[in-house]
Amino acid sequence: MQLIFEKSKQGHGSALIPECDVPEIQLPQNLRRTTPLNMPELSELELSRHYTKLMKRTFGVNSGFYPLGSCTMKYNPRINEDMANLNGFKDIHPLQPIETVQGCLAALHETEQALCLITGMDTMTFQPAAGAHGELTGVLLIKAYHEEREDYKRTKIIVPDTAHGTNPASATMAGYTVVNIPSNAKGCVDIDKLREAVGEDTAGLMLTNPNTLGLFEPDILEITRIVHDAGGLNYYDGANLNAIMGITRPGDMGFDVMHINLHKTFSTPHGGGGPGSGPVGCKYFLADYLPRNQVIKLNDEYSFFCPPVTIGCVKAFYGNFLVIIRALTYIKTLGPDGIKQVAENAVLNANYLRHRLSEYYDVAYPGICMHEFVLSLQNLKDKYGVSALDVAKALLDNGIHPPTMYFPLIVHEALMLEPTETESKDAMDEAVAVFVKIYEQITTDPESLHRMPLTTPVRRLDEVGAARNPRLRFCC
Ligand SMILES: *Cc1c(COP(=O)(O)O)cnc(C)c1O
Repeated sequence: MQLIFEKSKQGHGSALIPECDVPEIQLPQNLRRTTPLNMPELSELELSRHYTKLMKRTFGVNSGFYPLGSCTMKYNPRINEDMANLNGFKDIHPLQPIETVQGCLAALHETEQALCLITGMDTMTFQPAAGAHGELTGVLLIKAYHEEREDYKRTKIIVPDTAHGTNPASATMAGYTVVNIPSNAKGCVDIDKLREAVGEDTAGLMLTNPNTLGLFEPDILEITRIVHDAGGLNYYDGANLNAIMGITRPGDMGFDVMHINLHKTFSTPHGGGGPGSGPVGCKYFLADYLPRNQVIKLNDEYSFFCPPVTIGCVKAFYGNFLVIIRALTYIKTLGPDGIKQVAENAVLNANYLRHRLSEYYDVAYPGICMHEFVLSLQNLKDKYGVSALDVAKALLDNGIHPPTMYFPLIVHEALMLEPTETESKDAMDEAVAVFVKIYEQITTDPESLHRMPLTTPVRRLDEVGAARNPRLRFCC
């Protein structure tokens, strides 16, 4: 397929720019472009066909089952888009007079209050643009807290071996040394190992609960207490909040600071679908370190303020505003009971799928799961030579987006499935039928699986090559 720049033909352009209705000014010479702007020129029909073709080649939650574990690929309700498309929200500028955007600030304030209620945090920043960005922000808050107390000996952040790779990465970016602790035989934090790991050098712990195996940490209160007793703070990775919202809260489990992935739990567009948002909530004692542009309400008037010992800005202004509007719409559409039902149904769906698939595939940690679970294909690989990657490719040929693969790292040949609450029983039954069909293919014709996918625009990619030598720009 040709790129839009390759399709471009001079004179085909369809841009219809309205006549200028403000006084024209001449930019100073040094600000003027010296070469013509390289814009593709296509007619409206050519443009429409180009994007329709691209749309057909991609796979989204609107195309089919998308059980990408830990990513919560739920349906994004259309009403979110309608609200984000209101002129009062979209036709604004971050620098316009504050009295003209009171409604927008009210929306930010209301979202903050709702998310604090759901998480048990006291206050929140909307600046971070993703979960990983929120992690860095949160760890910087932890660092600012210790530094203000002149407690410079705390140089380590503890991370369990089931953690998402962004956790150690964020801690390292913030200047900390990462201490990895192994999980116990049940897939949860090993309390004895945690006790051994904490000490005077512990700045904090980063944990997601339920963890990436889909297991709720039974000793969560003891875990956070051990870290607090050692003088450290607890960071909650909110990626798996979908499993517990409306039922229990990180703030009640002993966490001091956390992020929320609005593009996971709160149904805002995910991945290529749009900008993300990773608000960071914290308890009051960390509020003074938050980034700039906090919204405050005084005598029915909203304004921005800068916390006194802020870590600075982690993004311009107040984050991806229209994403926050989508999340607020979702929260208000569901209400408190709906939010709770989301978590209940997410857990129910995951357990249904786990139960059905366990007849054919090994579940890494059997028993009731939360919103996701992990299969291990190690036995199938040993017996038939078919890997988790082969099964993932076979799923593509059957109209299903593969689950998360080879993660968490402690499970061999891992496939991590999260159906989310928005899938119906019928959709999951169809998916089970595909998994059964692939299982039968594994046992009867394993060789055929190495050749898949057969129906996708590209076959097997050199993924290592793409990661190590990325070509990020198009050169003619
Ligand atoms: C998705 C995820 C993250 C990172 O969030 P992004 O929004 O993708 O940056 C962190 N931790 C876990 C467990 C996740 O699943």
